[in-house]
Amino acid sequence: MEQENRVLQLDPATNLPNRFELVKALDEELKNMDGNTNGAVMVIGLDNFQLVNEVCGPNVGDEALRQITDNIMNVLPYDIQLYRLDGDQFCIFWPESMPEEMEIVFASLQLSLRDIAVIEDKVYCTTTAGVAFYPRDGKDSDTLLRNAQAAKTIARQEGGGDRISFFQEAAYERWRYNIMMQGFMKNSIARGCEDFFLCFQPQVRAADASLYGAEALLRWTSGTGEVLPPLEFIPVLEKTRLIIPAGHWIIEQAVKTCKKWLEYMPDFQMSINISLYQLEEQMLFPFVEDCLQRYDMDPKHIVFELTEGQNVTDWDFVNEQFASFRKLGVRIAMDDFGSGYATLDFLRQFECDLIKLDRSVIEDMLTREFNKNLVKYAIKLCHKLDLEVCVEGVEEEDIYLCLRDECEADAIQGFYFGKPETEDVFVKRFRK
Ligand code: C2E
Ligand code: CA
Ligand code: CA
Repeated sequence: MEQENRVLQLDPATNLPNRFELVKALDEELKNMDGNTNGAVMVIGLDNFQLVNEVCGPNVGDEALRQITDNIMNVLPYDIQLYRLDGDQFCIFWPESMPEEMEIVFASLQLSLRDIAVIEDKVYCTTTAGVAFYPRDGKDSDTLLRNAQAAKTIARQEGGGDRISFFQEAAYERWRYNIMMQGFMKNSIARGCEDFFLCFQPQVRAADASLYGAEALLRWTSGTGEVLPPLEFIPVLEKTRLIIPAGHWIIEQAVKTCKKWLEYMPDFQMSINISLYQLEEQMLFPFVEDCLQRYDMDPKHIVFELTEGQNVTDWDFVNEQFASFRKLGVRIAMDDFGSGYATLDFLRQFECDLIKLDRSVIEDMLTREFNKNLVKYAIKLCHKLDLEVCVEGVEEEDIYLCLRDECEADAIQGFYFGKPETEDVFVKRFRK
């Protein structure tokens, strides 16, 4: 009796029952679950809703929420209760529902949320929903809510939002792993890049195979003790902008190592990969200038590589940033040339000193005349433009000889001359 008369806990802005009520109702549904019980929990998120409060003020925000509430209720079946979770999230649970039904409801819900009168033309909000089905994706309210919310977050982060997404175990595990990696990497960087180290891959002159430089390549020992290849963790560093502090450390380590090696290899050159996000940081140039000064390093021994794979939208900005490094004496390389979809455009836009020809370009060059000619004339073209060419990914002697004799490449970097090695191993191999 007491149960039935209790006052519902309502959210003051929308008059909807709150999270507490949702959990209670959902627990009730799941408590008596038998072999036939099934249904879905859908979390609906209003992306960017905080902008409404910021641009229009909190009163308009509350009014918008009320209109949104009405609009959502209008597209839901009459017996489905809408709940408001915290902030910009709503939730429903829907017994015996099918994915198709959820999609249809979401589509009309999206439409109905397009025109919220009080914010129309002022703020553009998208809507993203995540769905978890019971019993498949969880048998208790906590797990179901977590999984529906995670499906929504993943859809927003990876798909850009404005969609409905159904919980998938594999995608969730990947996402959780990435979040964990971010945490590990953040701690590692806070402790002075403790679990990071650099490997160095030799670069040789094509003419006589003599060593003249190395590329510094980042490695990370993950929380589980496994050394991960950069393609697995650099995107995470970039996405979280942790590449900025890590980038400082990389540059410092590479310059320090180069300084040591210059003692017995006076013409040595150290190549350092720079990601676009690092260029966007105001402090990069002063940091590099200071670092070179601290190690008394002549900038001519340093090369910065920018990969062709980077999605550059503002070439003036990139060239301006690199121009200041070039003025200092640092050389600039275009990395992975030939691997992108707009190679010639990159060449046209990017002011650089040398080109690194991508491994994919030299594939099949010994078996297909056309491919060999492509490499040969790409190198010729670069030479005409006063650009030096280093060919990457050379694994066999025959390819090296062809690049040297027929294609006139200037430099080679590839497993044939050495894999990336730690500082100690590199020194042992190359110190005369
Ligand atoms: P990248 O800059 O193109 O570096 C060359 C990659 O090709 C290295 O992979 C190297 O091990 C590999 N490689 C070199 N020669 C051969 C060969 O003969 N055969 C084959 N199969 N592979 C070869 P790694 O070390 O896994 O690095 C992958 C990418 O990660 C790099 O490609 C670079 O884009 C990025 N990266 C590495 N270190 C850094 C860093 O410090 N900062 C940034 N922003 N990116 C980095
Ligand atoms: Ca590179
Ligand atoms: Ca490359």
